Amino acid sequence: MSFRATVLTLYPEMFPGHLGVSLAGKALERGQWSIEAVQIRDFAEDKHRTVDDTPAGGGAGMVLKPDVLARAIDHASANDDRPRLLMSPRGRPLTQARVRELAAGPGVVVVCGRFEGVDQRVIDTRNLEEVSIGDYILSGGEPAALVLLDAVVRVLPGVMGNELSGVHESFEDGLLEHPHYTRPQVFEGLEIPAVLTSGNHGAIAKWREAEARRLTAERRPDLLERDAKNRSSEKSRADQNLERNPAQPVKK
Ligand code: SAH
Repeated sequence: MSFRATVLTLYPEMFPGHLGVSLAGKALERGQWSIEAVQIRDFAEDKHRTVDDTPAGGGAGMVLKPDVLARAIDHASANDDRPRLLMSPRGRPLTQARVRELAAGPGVVVVCGRFEGVDQRVIDTRNLEEVSIGDYILSGGEPAALVLLDAVVRVLPGVMGNELSGVHESFEDGLLEHPHYTRPQVFEGLEIPAVLTSGNHGAIAKWREAEARRLTAERRPDLLERDAKNRSSEKSRADQNLERNPAQPVKK
């Protein structure tokens, strides 16, 4: 069974979007994954097909109605065990680790918010996992869903041409990636670092690792701290022989 994405949205015409071209598009054509965009409005039952209403307690904007959205979710995930995600700036920030977990599963049901967001009761009763793609506000969940699916689809087996590229990618090993160079040998007076053209694979690997560490320390010291914390908490848990549930993510 190939990876199946169902997206609940008020703008189904935004899908598959950029996922219909390049490697993801070819994989889609080959049937290595599939995407279905479901119009939330189709589940409104009044004559105006209303999907939103004013916020309880007052304030600006509108809120997606729980009854309409719940019907759409129930329809999309009837008798299936795919995780149900809600794109939301309040969610847990998306990581490459979560991307890998999702890609290893049967697929996802993704809810795209609009307006001020969705009624909290749908999040609670339908067990929606809130996922953020960063600390900024988009006008809707659709671009966030496309970002999430892009990241997931590219790690599905057989989607990327070169299976090996990706292993040393930024975040895969807790570090940012080393810099890249290609021909010409001299560009605007700047040479490719000599070690990369030395043919010495040991030295090249060492240089790349050192550069990855340098860049990570400079730009994302939080990644190194997280890695150190994970290592030390893994170690202390192993020491105390307390590891009950290895599938549980390490809490920071
Ligand atoms: N009032 C909300 C923002 C609503 S933005 C708040 O302050 O938290 C409208 C919709 O866009 C959201 O429901 C969500 O689905 C989507 N969205 C906006 N920013 C996002 C982000 N950083 N990550 C994921 N989804 C986002």
